[in-house]
Amino acid sequence: MMSVVICDSPAGASALPPPEALLGAWTGSAAFVYCRDLAGNLSAVNEAFARKFGRPADQLMGKSSASLVHHDDVKSFPRADEAVQRPPHTATHEQRWLTPQGWRWIDWEESAIFNVEGRIIGVRAVGHDITRRRLAEEQFHKLSSAVEQSPIAIAITDAEGGIQYVNAKFTATTGLTLETILDRELDVLREGQPSEEAYQEFRSRVRAGLEWRGEVTRRSPEGRVVWESVQVCCLRNAHGEISNLLLLREDISERKLLEGQLRQVQKMEGIGTLAGGIAHDFNNILAVINGYAELCVLNANEPAIIQKSVREIKRAAERATGLVRQILTFSRKAEVHVASLNLNQHVRDLIALLAETFPRNITFQFALDENLTPLLADQNQLQQIVLNLCVNARDAMPNGGTITLATSRLETEDVPGAMLRRQPCACLKVSDTGTGMPPEVRERIFEPFFTTKGVNKGTGLGLAVVYGIVASHEGCIDVESAVGQGTTFRVCLPFAEAHMPSAPSAAKPGEFPGGSESVLVVDDEAPLRQLLETSLGRKGYTVTTAADGLEAIDLLGSGERKFDVVLLDLNMPGATGVEVLKVLKATQPTAKVLVLTGHLTPESRAEFEELGQHDFIRKPYTLDALGRQIRAVLG
Ligand code: ADP
Ligand code: MG
Repeated sequence: MMSVVICDSPAGASALPPPEALLGAWTGSAAFVYCRDLAGNLSAVNEAFARKFGRPADQLMGKSSASLVHHDDVKSFPRADEAVQRPPHTATHEQRWLTPQGWRWIDWEESAIFNVEGRIIGVRAVGHDITRRRLAEEQFHKLSSAVEQSPIAIAITDAEGGIQYVNAKFTATTGLTLETILDRELDVLREGQPSEEAYQEFRSRVRAGLEWRGEVTRRSPEGRVVWESVQVCCLRNAHGEISNLLLLREDISERKLLEGQLRQVQKMEGIGTLAGGIAHDFNNILAVINGYAELCVLNANEPAIIQKSVREIKRAAERATGLVRQILTFSRKAEVHVASLNLNQHVRDLIALLAETFPRNITFQFALDENLTPLLADQNQLQQIVLNLCVNARDAMPNGGTITLATSRLETEDVPGAMLRRQPCACLKVSDTGTGMPPEVRERIFEPFFTTKGVNKGTGLGLAVVYGIVASHEGCIDVESAVGQGTTFRVCLPFAEAHMPSAPSAAKPGEFPGGSESVLVVDDEAPLRQLLETSLGRKGYTVTTAADGLEAIDLLGSGERKFDVVLLDLNMPGATGVEVLKVLKATQPTAKVLVLTGHLTPESRAEFEELGQHDFIRKPYTLDALGRQIRAVLG
């Protein structure tokens, strides 16, 4: 199609031939064709051209071709003009031309026009409208660079999961290029899946054409643990068949970190509320202890009174123990410990404390199902749920009212759809007679930092935390509320399954078993040390004591005596329990150890477990519990 044109110019070498001669066979062609002279002005146009540009041919003649072209594309003229000067005297270029339909992309095939003397006198251009193709190309470009430069890691596989593409972010976060994945035949879909079952479940979901979302952890190339939100969906071809899988992975480590911090902040908020209740209870307990102690002093010769008083003092101390444990586990980053527990009991205990700090015009009511089977939950987190819901109820009742706590069992058919497993579950309802909420508030209450309470009053974290806790227990929460009608929160939590270990039952008071082994007691609290020396001595043990860590290290280092079991306090001046434990492991590796601790953080537990230490007893302990645990570690 592109060939040089030779025109026989009747008017001589310098003048241009007439348009028909310039156009030749193209005059009636459907393709649009024009000729331009060496100055770039139109010297001939065919009918198709005139139609395309919406003007009669004679109006176009003599016009500068550049005046019809998009100014960004004018620069391709000189290049084309230069190309046609050299054999084979043809050129192609794409330009936007202004037509009545707007700018259109036109692909021009150009050839030099020669006169009979062999001199070039112009250019003939045959055009095709390629606007549609250009737009498609631009669209394609936009899409592919969006995928390529996306801040989310993207991989595309075939329908069987065989990798076909990974974007730059994928390579940056995993360190894997498409080549390495192909070379090593890596399964990018399997990565981060916790188990084979989880992976199979995921595959069957995807195979069925469903979308899959999840959160997985993996190690970054630098060895850091990374949390990722993963989404996999199917891409279908024109026939609706699954042709590819699209894998999206986003780093959510930062969000996970924030979630943890958020829970901590909220816990601190809750503790203020609890502390008031605990202080009140503590005062009562101290009053009991003081009273009975005085009674003993005054009646030093009456064994009956002394015995009764000591029993009361012991009872009061046990209550104090429970309180301290509660506030400790609540305030610190206590370990999450899911166990079977009694929902009603926890609700009652917590409300007893709360009632002390809530205004007197708020009353509590219970509607507890006494036959409720135990729950599977973390005790502290369960308390936090109840606490947060009650505090919100209190805030919604500035003029007083009633908070009702109801528990019940939901049978399978009543289990809310949001519940992960459709089987009977426990239900806790917290209702108030307060202000209620309009729909626009109700919709947002679980959002972190959403609060309708003024600055410095609400944090907006309470319900976000409750939501997180409920979700981590595979439960669900919903709310019913209307302005002026009060509010009811409903929390559903799974029951403990038969195979779950239940919380250890409280040691029965009375005689605990003794033994004849040798015991080393390491504790800097003199009264405690003496108590253990006396009571364990009476039970037949040979007891040695060390008043602090350094003394214990000396004793162990000398190697004079061998111990069967060491009772080890954690926080001591001089050397800590951990340091003593290290010496002990080196000098007497067979000795059993029981660590006595007021509070064990997950971090220090991990430190101990690394040293092979798994036996702990919480302070304050009863002699009974200690005696039994000594037998347990001695096997
Ligand atoms: P905060 O209590 O700090 O505002 P929450 O997450 O606990 O944060 O609660 C969020 C919002 O939900 C509250 O500000 C309040 O508007 C609304 N809300 C929660 N519980 C109730 C309730 N029982 N009655 C009325 N409104 C409530
Ligand atoms: Mg709140």
